[in-house]
Amino acid sequence: MSHDLARYHRQMLLPGFGEAGQRRLLGSTVMVLGCGALGSIAADLLARAGVGHLVIVDRDFIELTNLQRQVLFDERDVAEAIPKAEAARRKIARINSQVKVTAVVDDINHTNIERYAEGVDVLVDGLDNLETRYLANDLAVKSARPYVYGAAVGTVGMALAMLPHAGGGAEWEEGEGGSLATPCFRCLFEEGPPPGTTPTCDTVGVVSAAVGMVANFQVAETLKILTGNFARVSRTLLNLDLWANSILQLKVANAYDQGDCPCCKHRKFDYLDGKAGSSADLMCGRNAVQLRHRQGAGAVDLESLATRLRTHGPVRSTEFMLRAHITERGHGYEVTVFPDGRAIVKGTDDPGVARGIYARYLGT
Ligand SMILES: [Zn+2]
Repeated sequence: MSHDLARYHRQMLLPGFGEAGQRRLLGSTVMVLGCGALGSIAADLLARAGVGHLVIVDRDFIELTNLQRQVLFDERDVAEAIPKAEAARRKIARINSQVKVTAVVDDINHTNIERYAEGVDVLVDGLDNLETRYLANDLAVKSARPYVYGAAVGTVGMALAMLPHAGGGAEWEEGEGGSLATPCFRCLFEEGPPPGTTPTCDTVGVVSAAVGMVANFQVAETLKILTGNFARVSRTLLNLDLWANSILQLKVANAYDQGDCPCCKHRKFDYLDGKAGSSADLMCGRNAVQLRHRQGAGAVDLESLATRLRTHGPVRSTEFMLRAHITERGHGYEVTVFPDGRAIVKGTDDPGVARGIYARYLGT
């Protein structure tokens, strides 16, 4: 065994792994989309496993409230106010110096995701909003790359590895037992809920262990995929609620055949083409960004949103709009939400910051 493989000895003992599997890992590139709780756990374990190149994309800085669950970071990162992607890169360099990390501090969107994903073999989801998940899924299906979904909020978590239908050309479609392709994210969740209606970690909290379980499941699936063990990839959606003591494996294999997915059946990539999802427009000279949703996703329930946001500061709501004051890292923002989901975030002229505030406090 050559010197640089010795550290992976316990992993190479696993069924379907061996030195060949390890060499595949060392030659692989994984994109970690979002480096919060899910992303930091995934990046840590994938680096330890010897995935040769990690592209870590995140637009945010580390805050004190992240440390409860984002295991890659510590108090010094908070004090130094380092972007998460860069802090992850520095930490991983000390964990496994054989791994190359590309830290991308940016708001991922339809104009840049293809560029950042160049050379990437697998997309791992550490995202905090549905819109970017649809975008990642579009890219995965269009370019025949696996997408490992994960989400955790409150006491619940979900995860699923997806091997897109690619018309027969992908490695997982060419096995002896036939194609191992799975439904895509849009097969399962065709339309997201109306904007501003979903709970987020910043409004309902999150159990660190739920995040840990989801991220660890994502890592297991990613390692199977990277080593070519496609038949071992779980065919069910992991769905757990740690407070309700429920861990389910939901069958989802029929979602492709029974559905009429615009993405993987009709190859319409609305999110990647910029036809769906939100847009962010600078409001000239007003230190504000307007966020708009292109698809008619239904009306926002301003009253219940107001109730959730009141824990963060003063909220005023009428039937026409809601106005909330949110303070983050000593910076105050005024967020105005209209019933159609349109929002104005005052206090920034950076669309990425405005999207972040929206995703964290209003949810998508
Ligand atoms: Zn689909």
